[in-house]
Amino acid sequence: MADELAPESLSPVTRNISAVLVHIQQAAQRAGRQPDAIRLVAATKFVPLHRVQEAIEAGVRILGESRLQEALPKMHALRSAPELAWHFIGRLQRRKVKSVVGVFEMIHSVDSLTLAEEINRRAGESGVSQAVLLEVNIGGESTKAGFMPSDVADVLTALDGMPNLTVKGLMVIPPQTAQAEQARPYFRRTRGLAEELGRLELKQASMGELSMGMSQDYHVAVEEGATLVRVGTAIFGERPE
Ligand SMILES: *Cc1c(COP(=O)(O)O)cnc(C)c1O
Repeated sequence: MADELAPESLSPVTRNISAVLVHIQQAAQRAGRQPDAIRLVAATKFVPLHRVQEAIEAGVRILGESRLQEALPKMHALRSAPELAWHFIGRLQRRKVKSVVGVFEMIHSVDSLTLAEEINRRAGESGVSQAVLLEVNIGGESTKAGFMPSDVADVLTALDGMPNLTVKGLMVIPPQTAQAEQARPYFRRTRGLAEELGRLELKQASMGELSMGMSQDYHVAVEEGATLVRVGTAIFGERPE
């Protein structure tokens, strides 16, 4: 019996998830944080359904989807899986907002005022309140989506008046770096920005969530205050990109 439970007999996905959870826990401890303050979002783009199911069996409870057309069949197939939450983490086109609102527990990637307005409008039509994060272009890269750090306070103030959308925090994808450690200043800056924004007089928006850290650097992100880490490759292996 014991042999059947030996780590070698588990699927790679299951072993990878255990390893990621241990790394999150260790990073939290190094930073004096409670490990349960950090939630793992499994980023599943290009991952076939049966491997997503393995991840769920291994305890993953949040699935991060980047593409609506890929997410919908998975959501349908997994509709009876208990306690699953779906997060939208990819770039969201305005015309797809209608299908995302109320279906995804959180949208991480709000990167323009017009997108926020559309989410608010569609959420109102559906009678739901949509939780969102503001994507910040923390490296100020011309090729990246997201609000410039200097614009976020104004954006947040504008969104705070929208009745059907609630800002829960920030999301960042820092510039690609060769080493995880080089991402640390961007994560730290993000947390500093969230702290600043949290001091604004806000009606319902809050800055409790920081979605930052991917396979290469989630341990650093956790040390710097991440509450949501979006991990794909470290769980599912390399993607066919
Ligand atoms: C794919 C993706 C991830 C996961 O990236 P990995 O490096 O594979 O962990 C995280 N966030 C977003 C927005 C993604 O599109």
